[in-house]
Amino acid sequence: MGNSQSRQQIETLNEDESLAHLTALYSQKVLNQELSLIEFSRKKTQLESMPSKVSLKMANFTTWESMSPTLFSEIAKSVFPTAYFVDMQAFPDLYEENQAQQIIDEMKKYPLINFHLLSSFSNQNLSIWEQIARLSPMIGCYVQELSDQNNVNPRDRILNPPAKHILKRISQIMKETESGFLYLVVNLNPTSLYQMQEFVELAVEFQIPEVQLKSMPLQTNHLNELKMNQEELSEHLIEEYSKCIDTCIKHGIRFIFDDKSLIPQIGHDKVISARDYHYNYPKIPFPLDESLSSEFSSKHKWSSIDGRVLDKSKVALYKKCFKPYHHAIFDYHGEVGGCNFLLEPETHSLGSLKDKSFGEIWNGTKMQEFRQSLLSGNPLDDRCKWCLKNRMGE
Ligand code: SF4
Repeated sequence: MGNSQSRQQIETLNEDESLAHLTALYSQKVLNQELSLIEFSRKKTQLESMPSKVSLKMANFTTWESMSPTLFSEIAKSVFPTAYFVDMQAFPDLYEENQAQQIIDEMKKYPLINFHLLSSFSNQNLSIWEQIARLSPMIGCYVQELSDQNNVNPRDRILNPPAKHILKRISQIMKETESGFLYLVVNLNPTSLYQMQEFVELAVEFQIPEVQLKSMPLQTNHLNELKMNQEELSEHLIEEYSKCIDTCIKHGIRFIFDDKSLIPQIGHDKVISARDYHYNYPKIPFPLDESLSSEFSSKHKWSSIDGRVLDKSKVALYKKCFKPYHHAIFDYHGEVGGCNFLLEPETHSLGSLKDKSFGEIWNGTKMQEFRQSLLSGNPLDDRCKWCLKNRMGE
């Protein structure tokens, strides 16, 4: 089967043909991920396998430069046939309608990919969002505070009424199509600290199945602004988190926060209960329903392969890193690297699509040296050194 069998092409086939194409594409992706695990265990640095996961830094929020549809299309042709997860950072936030449309048209060509977007909905073109929602993606709605004020920086832009309307529409489409996954990401700051329950109420209103609260160490000036000392802040958080958890449990919403210091006072059981999935696992394009590929799936159980991938991601445990065996990153200029943690603040580039094809970079000298440095536990990048000591997951 051709690699670029598109969603539209598959839809025009009869049921048997369409299923045959989908299962062939599914096998290709699963076998590729298995091969990268084998190549990692054999300590190969030149790979036959291609990336299974892809991170695209599609725009720069400071300079407003963005990845062109032509470059997106070139990347898609190179890596989407084997990829099952594609993170599209800053899309479609900094895109005009015409360019966003061209990129969505390209996305539609690739079935069996879980597209992931984290957005503050600064692009408020409803038609664009409706089309994205119909691709069954994973969409994180990123909010800092709930307010009707405008903010110049899109990254900090608040969830204003048009953005809420988009959120509601995405939720409706995902309900109608019974596919896709929507979640809310809240960064805590002095304003959002007082709005946690409103975020949860928003999730209840729009039937958003998951709320993630991200802590940030608050500086002394923040505490002064809040007129609180550290102890009073902790008491406030414990009280607010407890109320949020009660509401989430009542409405079947998964609630996650990342400040471990608060768990004993909130109650371990209560925190665990809030982390449980209360809804059916989201129906996203990958993995393919096992009933559709039963013969292949019985020999290549996805849950087992995925478990091995997650296990190999424990960099601090194994003192070597699997990431550049199955993950590729691209920035908006076409710089290419091998790990999503090496996109910010600057991209650890191992080659550019301006000079070489992706295949040449993926098995080029720089990429192979990078893999070798992570096999021998001797990386140069400080971010990798941190992982070797601390990282226990993807
Ligand atoms: S930053 Fe961490 S996860 Fe990424 S390649 Fe380096 S060691 Fe691996």
